[in-house]
Amino acid sequence: MISWTQFLENIVTTRKDVDYSQIQTVYNKAHIAIDLIKMYEPQIMANIAIVANLASGAYGVYNSSEDNTQGDTIHVNVRRIMNEKKTDIEAVLEIACTIIHETTHEYEYGNHGKSDETGPKQAEAAFMAWVQQNWESIMEHFPELNEPSPYFQQKAPKTAHPYTNTVQVQQP
Ligand SMILES: [Zn+2]
Repeated sequence: MISWTQFLENIVTTRKDVDYSQIQTVYNKAHIAIDLIKMYEPQIMANIAIVANLASGAYGVYNSSEDNTQGDTIHVNVRRIMNEKKTDIEAVLEIACTIIHETTHEYEYGNHGKSDETGPKQAEAAFMAWVQQNWESIMEHFPELNEPSPYFQQKAPKTAHPYTNTVQVQQP
């Protein structure tokens, strides 16, 4: 894992390089998804210039016809994710996974001229494994993930992993 100093430098660099203003306008914690990806693997978004909002349909879209010399564009359906998730943590991780998924399509298409679902799904799984391994550090460094959110009623317990977060109520 990279040092936190390096991580903060990566974030500063990324925020200059990648335009994610559309998704940030829709959801004020979307930037955490970008930060997590840079913390995970700074080079993963090297070819991406814009993370645009997607108004309807799938979780995400990459269309090679939008590629240009400034960098490529991927789209994330932030509202759909917010509608389907129950907490900031779940929403931010799904946005990050969607970005990684579409970025993998972009990378495969750019380097091999074709792409299917195998690589993007593996890339998402690898990211989520890393999230699980670094869960406490992530929660410590992104306290916004546990602050009350105007978008979600529920608040996930601080140490619970979102995808295994089933609260069992013991009956007497
Ligand atoms: Zn896909």
